[in-house]
Amino acid sequence: MGSSSSSLNRIPNAQELMQETGFSAAHILRLHERFEFLDVDQRGELRPEDFGAIRELSSNPVGDRIVGAFFSPRKETVDFASFVRILAHFCPTEKTRTRDGAQPEPAHSRTGKLKFAFQMYDQDRDGKISREELLQVLRAMLEMQVTEEQLQSIAERAIREADLDQDDAISFDEFRKSLEKVDIEHKMSIRFLR
Ligand code: CA
Ligand code: CA
Repeated sequence: MGSSSSSLNRIPNAQELMQETGFSAAHILRLHERFEFLDVDQRGELRPEDFGAIRELSSNPVGDRIVGAFFSPRKETVDFASFVRILAHFCPTEKTRTRDGAQPEPAHSRTGKLKFAFQMYDQDRDGKISREELLQVLRAMLEMQVTEEQLQSIAERAIREADLDQDDAISFDEFRKSLEKVDIEHKMSIRFLR
């Protein structure tokens, strides 16, 4: 495969993407190689099934949700720019401290990661994680290790602890607050870039 021809010039909007995501030129090149590798029919777009080749995802119990979060409800394919923007959520948070308040937060900021994680739970995208949505994720992650009864009580407790306005669902704000002490930066850093 002619990776020797890899250069930033071949990549549309490379500079913009670097600015937007905080990825370096080397990162963008790496990601472009990954993208081309996954894009088996070379149409410049990935479909959900193309993600099956990413081992970190296929072995992840919530991998199909992560893949699902790449696709908006109306789109069945992902182009390179969207691919990069979404992967930025999984890039370890690093030295991108607020420069001046006007800058939009980069996708791999803590808030960006939390939003992405929230979407993985909020399958119907109504802005809330319902008990059933929480149960679905727990089931996928804990399958075989716990009984349905235990699952129910884990979900129950998680909702009770996070649900501040008592509507029996977890909003993004509640989600964020409940994860305040969790090292989400570390948990959501998937090794796409190594
Ligand atoms: Ca929901
Ligand atoms: Ca609530």
